[in-house]
Amino acid sequence: MNLARPKRTLTLAQEEALDRAMAARQTCPECGRRYYFCLPLRTQGCCDPCTQRYELSLDTYLPSTAPANHRLAA
Ligand SMILES: [Zn+2]
Repeated sequence: MNLARPKRTLTLAQEEALDRAMAARQTCPECGRRYYFCLPLRTQGCCDPCTQRYELSLDTYLPSTAPANHRLAA
């Protein structure tokens, strides 16, 4: 008799699907910024700054267009 094995390991495809699902919930359709948390898209439709018209500090969201490592120009 086997106990149900916990399926902890996701396949790459599963991870990608999960990431897409998360990205859809974390990305504001108004400004295109991706956040660390899920946005209230069902109720609010966009992120707080878009709703309330204020600007964010850079560390609040993931700037998808920014390079991973900011290097000094030599
Ligand atoms: Zn927004």
